[in-house]
Amino acid sequence: MGQDWFEITPFPDRIFRISEPALGPLHGSHSWLVLGDHKALLIDTCVGVTPLAPVIKSLTRLSVICLLSHTHYDHIGGAHEFADRRMHPAEIEIMANPTPELTFWGGWLKADSFTHFPSHDYDFANYAIKPAPPTGLLHDRNTIDLGGRLLQVLHVPGHSPGLLAIYEAETGALFSTDALYDGEMFFNLNGSNIEAARHSLSRLAALGARVLYPGHYENLDAETLVRVAQSQLARLER
Ligand SMILES: [Zn+2]
Ligand SMILES: [Zn+2]
Repeated sequence: MGQDWFEITPFPDRIFRISEPALGPLHGSHSWLVLGDHKALLIDTCVGVTPLAPVIKSLTRLSVICLLSHTHYDHIGGAHEFADRRMHPAEIEIMANPTPELTFWGGWLKADSFTHFPSHDYDFANYAIKPAPPTGLLHDRNTIDLGGRLLQVLHVPGHSPGLLAIYEAETGALFSTDALYDGEMFFNLNGSNIEAARHSLSRLAALGARVLYPGHYENLDAETLVRVAQSQLARLER
């Protein structure tokens, strides 16, 4: 069931994208699995309507560090399935008490947001995000060593206060989560900060990343990611 629900797309450098095709690009999000020699990093955990951990297990036998980029429902639904959970301190209370309002699915995610459900007897009336407080904290410029590959944590607030992105200098891969993607971005939510968003977008554009693996919509090449960041910045200036 889970294997059919999730769409898994492999990319170079032992990177996998995990998505939920039953949801549109702004109701679901992309999670990313990055394999090292000794550990795997899972960036975000989808919406949480069907178990994610078995799908990750089918892709790797490595022990998994689960990084929660921020506490919007579309990134944290499967967080409770993973023992090693890490995030920025700014949003930890929300993971301990993930109400529909604080995780933003209340009033936004509805039964008709799905083209279909994971099973015939699935009841969306029982949908909820399970509490999953972090077991470790991440700060700007922390590194995560997976064995043979080193990832850098970037704190990029704006869309949300504790928002994290991940950058790998060696491959030039930038996992931007909700800090940058080519689609409608949200900087006016409860917890958003436009000044911080300006700073974060400028910082991501200046990284020199070779490929953007975003939280929503399509991957971007180096040139396009700078252009998209600049157009989002221009929108914020207005
Ligand atoms: Zn978000
Ligand atoms: Zn999102």
